[in-house]
Amino acid sequence: MKSLDNIRFVLVGTTHPGNIGAAARAMKTMGLSNLHLVTPKIYPSAEATARASGADDVLAKAVVHESLDDALVGCQQVYGMSARLRHLPVPVVDPREAVTHIQQQGDDAEVAIIFGREHSGLTNEELDRCQHLVNIPANADYSSLNLAAAVQVIAYELKMSFDPTIEAGRIGEKRESINADDLEHLYKHFEDSLITIGFLDPEQPKNLMRRLRRLFNRAELDRNELQILHGILRAAEKHRGE
Ligand code: SAH
Repeated sequence: MKSLDNIRFVLVGTTHPGNIGAAARAMKTMGLSNLHLVTPKIYPSAEATARASGADDVLAKAVVHESLDDALVGCQQVYGMSARLRHLPVPVVDPREAVTHIQQQGDDAEVAIIFGREHSGLTNEELDRCQHLVNIPANADYSSLNLAAAVQVIAYELKMSFDPTIEAGRIGEKRESINADDLEHLYKHFEDSLITIGFLDPEQPKNLMRRLRRLFNRAELDRNELQILHGILRAAEKHRGE
């Protein structure tokens, strides 16, 4: 499987348009956009658009079908999402196993993942169309997730499998790395400053510098933090004589 675009999410007979919007949002957050709707009860709908939030582009290109057959045209592999484990002669896998299996498909394979109605799930006839049943192993006493939450679980597993990188921009400022020379320079500065301010006795240094090295080596300093430490040391030296 080459691209997430080859994976279509098929929502069958969805009752609440809000769930369609929330499903579109769940998909878009994970980089998916191939949404198909089979006979949705109310669609298009302002509620769907509202719940999609910024994912209304995914809704706008969602394809509406008259039948599940139409939605599955061209698909080699069909995965049916089921909250209830029925005793059917079809293998049941968890989302992670399903995604591993999807990744092993040929580059051009088309895959469908189908989701059932809020109240009644997928019919037996619809499940018959699936080569695999996927069950999210939830609380055995309360195992039915909201439709869009079930979409989110699979979408997240796909994202983690296809492209697990965390965008640097999303975890704050860009950190500029430093090298071994920078660290040596810092330790020298520490040593000099600590002597100047009377914290380190050069006659009896004991293990202080080694301990400080261990501390800062663990910290994976970036350039900004390095400069802050140099600044603190300079300020401490300056105030020494005051
Ligand atoms: N009451 C229905 C569940 C409806 S939830 C039933 O018992 O079948 C709507 C859809 O979300 C389900 O049809 C299924 O596709 C998906 N879903 C919800 N919880 C799930 C779970 N634990 N595992 C797999 N799919 C789930």
